[in-house]
Amino acid sequence: MTQGIEPETEPEDLLLQEFREACLQHGLKVTHQRLEIYRAVASSNAHPDAETVFRQVRKRIPTVSLDTVYRGLKLLADHRIISVVGVSDERVRFDANVHSHHHFVCTHCGAIMDFNAPELGEIAPPAEACRLGRPVSIQLEVKGVCAKCQELERRS
Ligand SMILES: [Zn+2]
Ligand SMILES: [Zn+2]
Repeated sequence: MTQGIEPETEPEDLLLQEFREACLQHGLKVTHQRLEIYRAVASSNAHPDAETVFRQVRKRIPTVSLDTVYRGLKLLADHRIISVVGVSDERVRFDANVHSHHHFVCTHCGAIMDFNAPELGEIAPPAEACRLGRPVSIQLEVKGVCAKCQELERRS
């Protein structure tokens, strides 16, 4: 394994480039605040909630308010630049991965992890869902105990 050699373009640069393009597409101005909000969501694959995003953004913009972060998240979510993860938790979480994917939700520690399952794209939406509207995609939420929590359980 060769490790430690960073390519010229760091993943983060690519990420921000993607963000700029998405904003352009949606006619949104790329402001410093929005960029930092997006960075906070996208640089973590932990599907952070608004307060976690706020704490991250505050490191770079000390004057930012929680309200600004909330509004920024909502704006980005409204334009589908990020997505909202609907977990059965009172706290809404955000996801910069807007490509089709599914979630494994740990009922123990609350971790939300992405997984892909192309075969699910071939499943027809349930008839009941079709009665409610025109389905566009199906996102699965698998609940369980994550590997980390299983390991902790095993050790105790
Ligand atoms: Zn867990
Ligand atoms: Zn996700």
